Amino acid sequence: MTPKRFHWIVAITAALASSGFGQNERMRVRAFPPKAVRLLPSPFESAMAANGRYLLQLEPNRLLHGFYLSAGLPPKGERYGGWESRGVAGHTLGHYLSACSYQYAATGDSRFRDRVVAIVRELAECQALRSDGYLGAIPDGDRLWGEIRRGDVRSKGFDLNGFWVPWYTQHKIFAGLIDAVRVAEVPEALPVVKRLGEWAIDTTKVLTPEQWQTMLQCEHGGMNESLADLAELTGDARFKDLARKFHHQAVLDPLSRKEDRLTGLHANTQIPKLIGLARLYELDGKPEDRTAAEFFWDRIVNHRTFAMGGNSNHEHLGQPDRLNDQLSPESAETCNTYNMLKLTRHLYAWEPKATWFDYYERALFNHILGSQRTQDGMVTYFVPLQPLATRPFSTPFDSFWCCVGTGIENHARYGEAIYSEADSEIRVNLFVPSVLTAQSEGARLRMEASLPQDERVRLKVERAEGRTWTLAIRRPEWVASSPRVSVNGRGVALEPEQDGYLRVRREWKSGDLVEWTLPMAVRTEPLPDNPNRVALMYGPVVLVARHPREEEGPPPVLVPERRPSSNLLRRLPGKELRFRSADVLRPRDTDFVPFYEATEGPYTTYFDLFTGEQWKERERTYRVEAARRAAEERATIDVLRPGEMQPERDHHFEGERIETGEHLGRKWRHAVDGWFSFRMKVAPKAPQELVCDYWSGDSGRVFDIEVDGVKLATQRMEPVSSPAFVKVRYLLPPDLLAGKREITLRFVAHNGSVAGGLYGARIVRKDLKKTE
Ligand SMILES: [Zn+2]
Repeated sequence: MTPKRFHWIVAITAALASSGFGQNERMRVRAFPPKAVRLLPSPFESAMAANGRYLLQLEPNRLLHGFYLSAGLPPKGERYGGWESRGVAGHTLGHYLSACSYQYAATGDSRFRDRVVAIVRELAECQALRSDGYLGAIPDGDRLWGEIRRGDVRSKGFDLNGFWVPWYTQHKIFAGLIDAVRVAEVPEALPVVKRLGEWAIDTTKVLTPEQWQTMLQCEHGGMNESLADLAELTGDARFKDLARKFHHQAVLDPLSRKEDRLTGLHANTQIPKLIGLARLYELDGKPEDRTAAEFFWDRIVNHRTFAMGGNSNHEHLGQPDRLNDQLSPESAETCNTYNMLKLTRHLYAWEPKATWFDYYERALFNHILGSQRTQDGMVTYFVPLQPLATRPFSTPFDSFWCCVGTGIENHARYGEAIYSEADSEIRVNLFVPSVLTAQSEGARLRMEASLPQDERVRLKVERAEGRTWTLAIRRPEWVASSPRVSVNGRGVALEPEQDGYLRVRREWKSGDLVEWTLPMAVRTEPLPDNPNRVALMYGPVVLVARHPREEEGPPPVLVPERRPSSNLLRRLPGKELRFRSADVLRPRDTDFVPFYEATEGPYTTYFDLFTGEQWKERERTYRVEAARRAAEERATIDVLRPGEMQPERDHHFEGERIETGEHLGRKWRHAVDGWFSFRMKVAPKAPQELVCDYWSGDSGRVFDIEVDGVKLATQRMEPVSSPAFVKVRYLLPPDLLAGKREITLRFVAHNGSVAGGLYGARIVRKDLKKTE
């Protein structure tokens, strides 16, 4: 880098650091730069520290493995396992750059910045060895990008030219480099990401609008967001033009018309598209972009979100206001909430109301904090919400799922929205213990709190330069009674203003002390489609029942017998937040803890409300039903959920003339005059059956089912008078399974007919069938 260019970059970086990145007239409040906030001891700080230890355990050279290969260099470390050994390789390095940048900014620990500097240097070297500016680690990536460059664009629904999610992966690398510039203040990353942006322009320049839309069927992360960021960072409008091309019409256009067509869509594929639109709104001020982002947020948060702030089931969005049947081991993907928090920060900046933070706080205190195991910094993919659930965690070197990538960022970023500022105003949005250094007001504030254990919050003005400004305190929606505020020990009567903030304006002096209470009481929160299924809340946190490890039997229910919600649980003495159910939980009373503490499980989040009589009647039914389901699970060797991205990938799903869709909330696959196939595990010796779910209304269809090329059955869908979902069982002949651990099932349409629709397939042990 020439000295002149270096100075130019330093100047930009310094300007960014002082003004707050991405600030403009459409944003009515500013975020403080991440380095302005230091966490004080709390579960958030513990999570951040655990995250830091894990980040330092990871070896950059191993994360760089594929980058060296695509630059023609010998790798300096073995590649990691999990998703880093698969088609999405390289995504973790992007997240790692972001995570280390935030971890450095939040703690001042230079080891994290050193890693960012070292990785950026390696990436610059890899990039310099190529003529096209590409940086990436996607296996066989040159073949893919060569095809795209020639205008050869194909997608069978989720893939791009048979590759996993290449633009999703590239987005992470863009975002990591951008965070290196603006958060870790590593100016050397700017020319690298700019060159990568030019590569993206060049790679897509021949594509027609139709080819773009085909390409965008494949998950592409927040490419529009990163390119908008890059346009702003460099002042180069070409990047904004490209950001606009990453506009997935099928999803975004209905949203800008306030049409909810989200049911059945893969959740985390969509959220970043809206974050990108939000960024573009900030740059261009197009009202339809804002409409789409705000409408989408409402449809997710107010119509598809669980009490713990997460959304989705099996990674997909269900029907609005229908959550009763969405409580499963695969509820609430963690990436989704990472992205929803990001989106919320944008919407808050445009219209700074306290209510945005009611969602934000709930998602942060429950889902995000509960998605990490503090002992070792491992994180969750899903957060299970069915009764008696346990949370599965990543492993250090062999997971690297999407949610590990966003996970290592989550716990480095707790500081970024606790405070914000407007003209001569400092806002307290979240009651997370921390110290804020607000350059603009020349102030340093220390906030001490231990929510939800304690309702009191103390905010000490440690340094003031005798200036006059307003302290605005968010009044949460959950307070059980009006907060009491005092300044230097003297009570002040405050009413929340229209935006939901309580305000104290004065000339501040060092040593000034503001104290307030946030009264909390136990309350219930029902599901929108079932008033008799509730979560218990206390302040911002969900309280969950914690069960002994060996707990079995019917899911616990609440029998309140007309008792008010606030009397369902009894607070136990001690500093920790512990409750005991007060003779209202069946089959037995137990302790309740904050959702975020229930990392190991088993725990229960939602409870059915019963009368004593109902409980007696239903206890028996519950036992029978639970036994049936457990038997089915025990008997199941493998299960495929057709039409869902990850299960299909795991089962090597492929086919010709295939389609996917949804009927009555269930996804299907079929092949029109074609075929589809997938692999299923089998047990070496047991007698087994294939159990297929069909819709009997698909009458007239005829297709063969083959096992490893041998015909198993011909399925004819006969006309029926009242269509329903049906299960068809096929005995798997032992000679077809002999010595195998896996079989390939192929569904082949008869001439001119359709194979499927297949709604589900299981391999089930036959010997246990009679217990069902
Ligand atoms: Zn994820």
